Amino acid sequence: MTQIFDNPADFADEALDGFVAANRGYVARVDGGVVRSTEIPAGQVSLVVGGGSGHYPAFAGLVGPGLAAGSACGNMFASPAAGQVYRVAKAANAGGGVLLSYGNYAGDVLHFGQAQLRLNAEGIETRTVLVTDDIASAPLDQIEKRRGIAGDLTVFKIAGAAAEAGLSLDEVERLAIKTNHRTRSLGVAFDGCTLPGASEPLFHVPAGQMSLGLGIHGEPGISEHPMPTASELAELLVSRLLEDKPDDAGSRVVAIVNGLGTVKYDELFLLFGKVEKLLNAANLTVVEPECGELVTSLDMSGLSLTLLWLDDELEQFWAAPADTPAYRKGNTAPRARRELSGAEDTAAEDTENATAASANLGRLAAAVLAQVRDVVVEHEAELGDLDAIAGDGDHGIGMRRGVDAAAAAGEQNAAAGASAERVLTAAGEAWSERAGGTSGALWGTAVMAAGLALGNRDSYAGGDATAALSAFTNAITELGKAEPGDKTMVDALLPFRDAFTEAFDGGASLGDALTTAASAANEAARQTADLRPLKGRARPLAEKSLGHPDPGAVSFGLIAERVAAYLASDAVDSTPAASHMASTAGKGATE
Ligand code: ADP
Ligand code: MG
Repeated sequence: MTQIFDNPADFADEALDGFVAANRGYVARVDGGVVRSTEIPAGQVSLVVGGGSGHYPAFAGLVGPGLAAGSACGNMFASPAAGQVYRVAKAANAGGGVLLSYGNYAGDVLHFGQAQLRLNAEGIETRTVLVTDDIASAPLDQIEKRRGIAGDLTVFKIAGAAAEAGLSLDEVERLAIKTNHRTRSLGVAFDGCTLPGASEPLFHVPAGQMSLGLGIHGEPGISEHPMPTASELAELLVSRLLEDKPDDAGSRVVAIVNGLGTVKYDELFLLFGKVEKLLNAANLTVVEPECGELVTSLDMSGLSLTLLWLDDELEQFWAAPADTPAYRKGNTAPRARRELSGAEDTAAEDTENATAASANLGRLAAAVLAQVRDVVVEHEAELGDLDAIAGDGDHGIGMRRGVDAAAAAGEQNAAAGASAERVLTAAGEAWSERAGGTSGALWGTAVMAAGLALGNRDSYAGGDATAALSAFTNAITELGKAEPGDKTMVDALLPFRDAFTEAFDGGASLGDALTTAASAANEAARQTADLRPLKGRARPLAEKSLGHPDPGAVSFGLIAERVAAYLASDAVDSTPAASHMASTAGKGATE
């Protein structure tokens, strides 16, 4: 149980503030995360890591000489937003380029990927190496689909040491890729973890049982086993990892026994002793091992074993000194304090002259966002439960964080007389910034895209509604790259768009066309129960998901239905721009 907080919503931020205060000799707070507070030699590659909070010492605890230059820190178990990653990377950059490295999770890939585009566009050369060490999450021939768990440490350590040695971005990237290809992990859980403010753990493992192949976000394991003895557990973990060993493995390995949160060090040591004997019996020499908490999952009861098969160059970088709040090795040279350039300051807001029509539409957009917030709040618990079946249980809380922030940003801008464009772009930014997860990135970007499509025009007509919906849809399919049938929100979104376009172009009113489209979305969301997920966090647990609809498709259907009911109601007639748009059906009416 996580119990020390004032307001659970502020948990991640306040924990990070306190972490920085306690470790000021190592790290400084920047908007979006932390960077080293000591000098980074000019021209050195900056390794920027990150992910959700709740995994300490990953990720902020690994910032310092010989390891990461910065860490982007998201909300609890939720990816940092693209803007956070961007600002941390900018503050960490020392002129040698940036290597982004993090565990392979859809939400992180979306946000770090967007940040990488932006950094490269600004001339800061940026590359990415994903960590994919978890052998339970996909077969070896699909290694690129595997999640990242405690193998984060081996990849970060070797990339960080290579950067510290002054190697080029190409070389640091090459070594990180090689380390990832030679790293394998497997974890077990004895019980789930509880998010701050939640009354129940994200999942339970029945008493006397052990769940094999856990994720680090409270994703349950892939199979349950009777609780083994320590020797049986060591045998299980070692044998599964050795079966999966890389080609050209060699005989020297780093072994890491990692505690997930509440397994005591004595127990980890006991297991480590048995693991080492088994590795030796398999003719492997264990080199500079680790045993302790290195990548955790709040108060999860569980542990994992990681093996990295070394070669000469990897061994040299694994053994190199590092000095961070949570990971110290050998002696690093003393460092002066670093002057932060202030590059992380966000530019001042420019002013806009909103047209009357766009300001009206902006007010309507804010009212719609308030409806979206209400329907998400009503269904928060149900969406969380649905996501807990095969995902990580955070869809309700993530959507809620996102819409709360989006509705507030929308209201604030609309009250100030902003255009529809500004209302929706501010709302979308707030959504992806606060929600974190995959759905937050997708919804945030889509709301922004709809805002850009509506713009700040002198007048609006029916065709603008279709254009905004099409921009919304394209943003989700382009960013998430999900195909119909992958069991994602796209399976409800595309039928919604198609039904809307058909009805609206056929002459139906905006309200009627939305109502028809919302029924199509809900029907399609129900039908996702027959599908196996091929994208997102639920993919490794595809079988568990069969028979249950996709959480993102369900939330989309609920939102569509609420928005349709609202826009079909009398409330809308009081807003001139919208009623014009609502009463002018079809493409032909575009002005
Ligand atoms: P996370 O998966 O990061 O925990 P959420 O739980 O909030 O985020 O959202 C999960 C939902 O996101 C899924 O049910 C699915 O509908 C949607 N989703 C996941 N990946 C994709 C994708 N690539 N494209 C579209 N939707 C996706
Ligand atoms: Mg989730």
